[in-house]
Amino acid sequence: MSVLIENIEEEELPSLRNDHSNPVVLLVDDQPIIAEGVRRLLSNHEDIEFHYCQDPKQAIEIAQKVKPTVILQDMVMPGVDGIMLVKFFRGHPQTRSIPIIVLSSNEDSNGKSRAFSSGAIDYLVKLPDEIELVARIRAHSKGYISLLERDEAYRELRKLKHDLERSNARLKHLSSIDGLTGVANRRYFDERLAEETQRGLRERTSLAVVLLDIDYFKPYNDNYGHQMGDTCLREVAQALSHSLRRPSDFIARYGGEEFVAILPATDIEGACIVAETLRAAVDVLKLTHEHSKMSDHITVSVGYAALVPLSMEDGTLLVSASDQGLYSAKRAGKNRIMEGKV
Ligand code: GH3
Ligand code: MG
Ligand code: MG
Repeated sequence: MSVLIENIEEEELPSLRNDHSNPVVLLVDDQPIIAEGVRRLLSNHEDIEFHYCQDPKQAIEIAQKVKPTVILQDMVMPGVDGIMLVKFFRGHPQTRSIPIIVLSSNEDSNGKSRAFSSGAIDYLVKLPDEIELVARIRAHSKGYISLLERDEAYRELRKLKHDLERSNARLKHLSSIDGLTGVANRRYFDERLAEETQRGLRERTSLAVVLLDIDYFKPYNDNYGHQMGDTCLREVAQALSHSLRRPSDFIARYGGEEFVAILPATDIEGACIVAETLRAAVDVLKLTHEHSKMSDHITVSVGYAALVPLSMEDGTLLVSASDQGLYSAKRAGKNRIMEGKV
């Protein structure tokens, strides 16, 4: 039987007091003379802590405070049915696993059977012999303490596992993004290109790639400095990533001042539209560039290509075709888009 209950809040779960590993006994009995008898029987055993509750109506409340490792409970008390009280202990999240030893005035087998079936773990006729009482208290306490310790260890383990999963996910995320620009990195691009090529193959859908390169970026860096260069790369990356509309489209930093977009389920006409959208998104940023021979602000040249993949090599083919398109766009004067033939 486990005291770990999934849907119960942590603070509601039973626990031991301050790493208490000695037996803690709670006796519930309306007769103080019985309490006196039990106290005397336990008096030679200093490690056993003894508590007494005379009023059965307060038993649950006191048990929550005292946190016993074993409960000794009378069966016949005024106003409260002993069986009901055992069931109450069993039903309460804080006391449900505490072993209950029923103390009865007789050996009546019917009473015994009712006590066990309602959740008692043991049955003693009072007043029991000291050796027997102490042995049972120790045995049941030990069982309960190891149960709690095991559950505690299990909870710890679950928490550790959860923390580990979170840091793994975070690590995976970090290893997929480009530190400077915050968009996906080349490693992630390669992974996704392979996945999307596979999907294109399977679903016979067209896959498109758009490759972009900032124009005259070397003179930008040389004149404005590397930090301004970095800021420019970040702004371009953000503009590109916000321009993509479909959730399946994504942008990555391909290298230095080059970016690449993968557009699943997109044909060459669609790729042309997206390529122009991306070019325009950088153009409208109007990031001042007095040393560009093309314009007074930052611009990009764009190559794009699309195909329905027939083999896994077609992913690589798409990238080199876009690169060809990019090269043509540069040759034709930059700040433009050109299709690369596959
Ligand atoms: P083109 O118009 O033909 O594309 O010429 P370009 O000057 O843009 O291209 P080139 O390949 O000659 O130079 C690219 C420059 O990009 C070189 C380097 O100064 C800059 N660059 C590459 N990576 C980074 C980076 O991470 N940060 C910064 N600030 N600059 C970078
Ligand atoms: Mg009684
Ligand atoms: Mg360039």
